[in-house]
Amino acid sequence: MNFQDLRSIIGQIKKNVRCPKCKMTYTDKDIEIIGSPTDNHAFFHAKCLKCKAEAVINVSIEHDGAQAGIPELKFLANNVKQDQVTINEVLDIRNFLNSFDGNFSDLFKAPQS
Ligand SMILES: [Zn+2]
Repeated sequence: MNFQDLRSIIGQIKKNVRCPKCKMTYTDKDIEIIGSPTDNHAFFHAKCLKCKAEAVINVSIEHDGAQAGIPELKFLANNVKQDQVTINEVLDIRNFLNSFDGNFSDLFKAPQS
């Protein structure tokens, strides 16, 4: 996943995804990337400016030949709260953040084959 993909995904989120609670649309500063476990897969965190509801958005990108597909967006979890997140999920994110050095160009670099 490269920077262009990332921009495209955030554009799609702003266009297509609304707060599950109050239906407010998101802006750039409401959306942050949590992580990208594979080249075609990323998790985003969105916090509604209006009602403060939090959501985790799971994004998959289909690359069909030369044509980059429109990202498939779906909510992984709505209204994320402490008691709805398992300890394993918290540990996964913490482990990711501990190992993440802040270098997005490495994170989104296409695999060299
Ligand atoms: Zn809201």
